[in-house]
Parts: sequence; structure tokens; C-alpha cells
Amino acid sequence: MQIRGDTEVVAVLGYPVRHSCSPEMHNAAFEALGLNWCYVALEVAPERIEAAFEGIRALGLKGVNVTIPHKEAALRLVDEAGEEARLAGAANTVLNQGGRLKGFNTDVEGFLLAAKEGGVALAGKRVLVLGAGGAARGIGVSLLRAGAESVVVTSRRRERAAALADTLNALAGRAWAAASALEVREMAEAGPYQVVVNVTPAGMWPKVGEMPPAPWEAVAEGAAVLDTIYNPRQTMLLETAAGKGFRTLTGLGMLLYQGALALEIWTGREAPLEVMRQALDRALDLKKSPA
Ligand code: NAP
Repeated sequence: MQIRGDTEVVAVLGYPVRHSCSPEMHNAAFEALGLNWCYVALEVAPERIEAAFEGIRALGLKGVNVTIPHKEAALRLVDEAGEEARLAGAANTVLNQGGRLKGFNTDVEGFLLAAKEGGVALAGKRVLVLGAGGAARGIGVSLLRAGAESVVVTSRRRERAAALADTLNALAGRAWAAASALEVREMAEAGPYQVVVNVTPAGMWPKVGEMPPAPWEAVAEGAAVLDTIYNPRQTMLLETAAGKGFRTLTGLGMLLYQGALALEIWTGREAPLEVMRQALDRALDLKKSPA
């Protein structure tokens, strides 16, 4: 696609964001749909997010994705919000309608579609969510929607975990917060965790040698361990979980589905899922061996 004077622009705002594969995924989709649009990654420091949102209006961007660490701020900065974004208290997708910004949360449905595709059942499960930031908010709503029996959310900062548990309890009353390994284990006394989801950036490229603290002794035999990180595909957490015999699922499916839903919001067109999936695979293969 040739960039021209009338090319429409969408972007992902994050910090860091240079590792993102969303540009490859969305640009391949625009090409396949014959749309003269382009998608770029823009690094926005936390203290500049308000200015960046004003920039969406000033520059006439069609919309944006918002990623780590801006999803909660994004909800504050839009003019109106869709149901999932309001329930989660976080937005990952913004549509610019002539200067009026509408926020959506496609992580909620994206996570559910990815879990379904990966064969991970959530209904009736005791779930441990590692992380309590913007993405964990969307996933918490997904888990309640899917009928999880209970959701324990963890964060190193107690107030973050507590705030997310409060949000989820206002929806369905099946959430608890934990801020230490001891608390995570204590909360498993009613029954070990059957699903563990990492929604922290620990292990994300370039810090691939990290992983969040996981209380393996409190995880049930046959449990599923899901990572939302997709770069690298196999995080240290997933490798460790697989070595212990747990089922694993990478964050790639969630990235694909949340992106497809965002693209449909911006363009009103059906997302070319297979084109997007292949573009993601190619992008990740290239990023494995940086020049
Ligand atoms: P965020 O709002 O900054 O939240 C990050 C959370 O992780 C916070 O609860 C933070 O709280 C915790 N944390 C940060 N660094 C940590 C570390 N080194 N060890 C343990 N905990 C840590 O970020 P976000 O937007 O929620 O994104 C979180 C992750 O989800 C990122 O890796 C992102 O790539 C991934 N994600 C993937 C998809 C996808 O489509 N696959 C979609 C959305 C998000 P404390 O500092 O209190 O622990």
C-alpha cells in the first residue's frame, strides 16, 4: 500500500511499544481489505498520555489501540465508552468520530475467543490472575462472563489488586485480592487454582529471562496456564508450566482476536482473520532474530 495524501492513520499508544506486532497485523489486514489506511506504533510516556489523546483529535487519527500502561487512563480520556470498557474500568480501543472519542474494551471478548480456540474451559473454574493492571481488568470481566467460580487477582501493590477485586465484586461478587505469595496460597485452601493467567509484563521481550512469581504448589493437576505475552511466544512462565505438566496457551490468540474486533470497530468491515494470523506469525519469526 502506498502512503498518500489521503491515507488514514491509526496507531497503538504504549510504553514500551516498539516490540509490538500490531502494526504488521493491522497493515496486512488493511492491504487485504483494499483500504488506504496505515497503522503505526507510537511510544507515549505515561505523563504524555493526555496530550496524546488531544493529538488523536488534533491530527484526525481514525482511532487508536491503547496498551501497557495506558488502558485505565484511556477510559478517563474518552468522551464516551462501550459497556465492556465501563465494566472493566479500562479501554484498549478508541474510535475517533469527528473529534469525539469513544472507548471500547476488545480484550474482554478477545480473551474469551482465544481461550475457546485454545480449548481452555473457564466456566466453573477457580482462576488465579497474575497482575491487576489495565489488561487484567478486561480479563477479569471476561472470566466472570464465562462463569468462572472464583477469581483471585494479584499485584505487588496491594491497592491495585484490591481495586480490581472491588470492580469485579461489584459485577458478580466472586473475586478476591492477594498481594503476597502467602495470601495466594491461603486463598487456594478452598481448592487449588485450575486456570492461571499471566497479565503482567514479566517475561516480555526483551526481559525474556523473567517470570512472575507463580505458586505452583497451589495449582491443580491438569490446570491450564495462559500467558497474555506473545513476544516471545513461549515465555519462561509457559516453559516452566509445560515442564510441570500443565497445559499452556500463549498470548497470540488474544492479540489476534482483540485486534480483529478493534479493526471492525474502526473500519466497519469484517476482519480478515487468517491474513492477520499469518502476518503475526511472520512478524514474530522476524523479531526472534533481531538484526
Ligand atoms: P499495566 O496496566 O501496566 O499492568 C501491569 C500489571 O503487572 C500491574 O498489576 C503491575 O502491578 C504488574 N507488574 C508489572 N511489572 C511486574 C513484574 N515485573 N512482576 C510482576 N508483576 C508486575 O499493563 P497492562 O496493559 O495490564 O498489560 C500487562 C501485560 O498484558 C503486558 O505484558 C501486555 O503485553 C499483556 N497484554 C497482552 C494482550 C494480548 O492481546 N495478548 C492484550 C493486553 C495486554 P504491580 O507493579 O503492583 O505488581
